[in-house]
Amino acid sequence: MHRLDAHRPTAAYIDLDALADNFSRCREFIGSEFKYMAVVKANAYGHGSVPCSLKLESAGADWFGVAMPEEGVELRRGGVAKPILCFGLFWPRQEELILDYQLTPVVFNIETAVRLSDFAAQRGVVIGVHVKIDTGMGRVGIRMPDVGNFALKFASMRKTLRVDGLMTHFAAAENPEENEYTAMQIAAFDEALETFRAAGHDPEFIDLANSPGAVRHPASRGNLIRLGGALYGLLDDILPSGTIGPGLRPVLSLRSRIADIKSIAAGETLGYGRTFVTTSLSNIALVPIGYADGFPRALSNCGHAVVNGVLVPIVGRVSMDWTLIDVTSVGGVAIEDEVTLIGNGINAADIAGLTGTIGYEITCALSSRVPRIYE
Ligand SMILES: *Cc1c(COP(=O)(O)O)cnc(C)c1O
Repeated sequence: MHRLDAHRPTAAYIDLDALADNFSRCREFIGSEFKYMAVVKANAYGHGSVPCSLKLESAGADWFGVAMPEEGVELRRGGVAKPILCFGLFWPRQEELILDYQLTPVVFNIETAVRLSDFAAQRGVVIGVHVKIDTGMGRVGIRMPDVGNFALKFASMRKTLRVDGLMTHFAAAENPEENEYTAMQIAAFDEALETFRAAGHDPEFIDLANSPGAVRHPASRGNLIRLGGALYGLLDDILPSGTIGPGLRPVLSLRSRIADIKSIAAGETLGYGRTFVTTSLSNIALVPIGYADGFPRALSNCGHAVVNGVLVPIVGRVSMDWTLIDVTSVGGVAIEDEVTLIGNGINAADIAGLTGTIGYEITCALSSRVPRIYE
C-alpha cells in the first residue's frame, strides 16, 4: 500500500488479522445471537477507517458506527455496504448526505427530527432513524421526562420518519463500583422502550451496550452491540484488572528508525528547556517522531522505546518533529535501526498511564503525518 522506502520511516502498522480476531473473540464471548456494530469513528480510533471497516465487514460486522455523516460518506466511498449509524447528529444541509449515501442518523431532539421529516417529505421518502435516550450519561439523548412527548411527536411524523432503532449509552459500564448506576440506566432504557412501543413504534434494533457494557453487563445487550475499543484491543486498559473478558490483542504498533546517533559527554543538556542532563558518556539516538505526529509531549523524560529488543528511555523534551532516546545500553546500535514506540511490550495503555489519559486517546491522536501500513 505505502512504500516504506518512499517516506520517513515513522509509521503505524495495523494488524488487520488481529482486528478480525478481536471481533470474532468478542462475538464468541458475548454471544452469536446478537448483531454487531463496529464503531469506526475517528478514523477507526486512529487505525484507518476504510481498511478496518472492509476487514470487519468481511469478518461479519452487521453495522458500522461513526460520529459524523462525513465519516459515513468516507466509508461508502471506500466500499462499505452494510448500514452505517451516525451517532453525532447531522447538521443543516447534511440531510442530503444521509439520503444519498444511505446513512442512518441518530435523532434526539424535536428540531432535528422536524428538519429531517420536512426533507423526507420534499423527497417523497421515508427515512429510518435511531432515537437516542439519555438514561444517565447526561450528554446526548432525550431526557427521561421528555420521552413520552417525543414518542408521540414521532408517531405524528410516521409518513416521513421511521424509528428503526432505540439506543442509549452508558456512563460508567466499565466500573464495578457503578454497577447499580448501570442497572438504573438499563431499567430507564426499558421504560423508554415501552413508552415508544405504546406510542406505536416498533424499533427493530435495540442497542445499549458499548464494549465494556457488552462484556460486563449481560442485561445491556439488547439485540445490537456497539463495539469500539474492544476491536482495537484497547479494552483491557479501561476495564479493572482481572475482569474476565474476551482476551484481545493490540492491533496497532508505532515504529520508526534511528535518524542519527551521537556520543555525548557527561554534563551536557539535551533538547528544549535543557530538561535532561547526561550523567555519563551517553549514546543518544534521534528518532523522527514528535508531538505533531500525535506522540505526546508529556512523554518527555518519562516514556520509553524498544531498540533491538532493549527498553530504552526517552530523554529530554519530545519536540514537534523529534524525540531523543538513550541507547547507551543497546549493543551494536546503528543508524536506521528500528525503534518501537508502541508494540514489543509497550501498549497504548502504558503511554496513557504516563500521560494521564486512556489508550483510546493515544491511538486517536496519531496524526495524518503518520502513514498507516496494513499487514
Ligand atoms: C464511541 C461510542 C461507542 C463505542 O464505545 P467503546 O467503549 O469504544 O466500545 C459506542 N456507542 C457510542 C454512542 C459511541 O459514541
